[in-house]
Amino acid sequence: MRSVDVKEIADAVAEMARESNYFLGEDVKCAIQKRAQEEPWPVAKSVLEKIEENIGIAEEGVFPLCQDTGLACVFLEIGQDVHLTGGFVEDAVNEGVRRGYRDGYLRRSVVRDPLRRINTGDNTPAHIHYEIVPGEQVKITFAAKGFGSENMSRIKMLPPSAGAEGVMDFIVKTCEEAGANPCPPIVVGVGIGGTFDKAALMAKEALLIPFDRPNPDAFYAEMEEKLLRRINDLGIGPQGFGGETTALSVKIKTAPTHIAGLPVAVNINCHVSRHAERTL
Ligand code: SF4
Repeated sequence: MRSVDVKEIADAVAEMARESNYFLGEDVKCAIQKRAQEEPWPVAKSVLEKIEENIGIAEEGVFPLCQDTGLACVFLEIGQDVHLTGGFVEDAVNEGVRRGYRDGYLRRSVVRDPLRRINTGDNTPAHIHYEIVPGEQVKITFAAKGFGSENMSRIKMLPPSAGAEGVMDFIVKTCEEAGANPCPPIVVGVGIGGTFDKAALMAKEALLIPFDRPNPDAFYAEMEEKLLRRINDLGIGPQGFGGETTALSVKIKTAPTHIAGLPVAVNINCHVSRHAERTL
């Protein structure tokens, strides 16, 4: 049994809140650069170049990449041989979010109640997902989720007879209806199977998969490629200005499901696909 002080978790979360809002991952930057080079439509090309310029300005000046600095989604994978000490883990995560957003001058975007809408003033509470895993480490993944794209996400309980074609049609239709709202080029996370809630969680987790990591299942790897092509064929383009670059990546996660159902969730992220990881 290994002890981990929750203070370390708070420190890591504070650091990741700032880092993820200033610096995009190499996979995202490479994908945007490649698309900017290959994009044949001049207007789309120039938008992608502006996006690259914005990424550079944020990195150099240590400024947030976007005014919407996101809702803090925190994924904790806790080894079953870890003993967390020094306080309650949820308080530690929220302390990290509070400090990260305050010290990083990041916008506070959370309201305490969905209908009465009073800002909590410190971007807490975080949305925390816990998973118990083998081992004696704690892996923390922080994602700052913007809501221009979150609002365009959809879930549907399809009949099993819909099959792969029905699933793909729903995913593409969701992206088409989203149009320019999620600040394309978008990143598409898909959850297929499980239950209503599990599908949505898998879709969000799929957004955290590096672009260059192929799906281990050849069937779904092929589906991801087909979907990326179909979404880019929609012609929405960067920020909705047309062209061949509507999406940068499509990632799918799956889970066993009930014989009577086929849940599908599509979680859309914008090109500001912000996340960071630490292992303690
Ligand atoms: S969708 Fe993304 S790029 Fe657009 S405003 Fe929100 S965080 Fe910013």
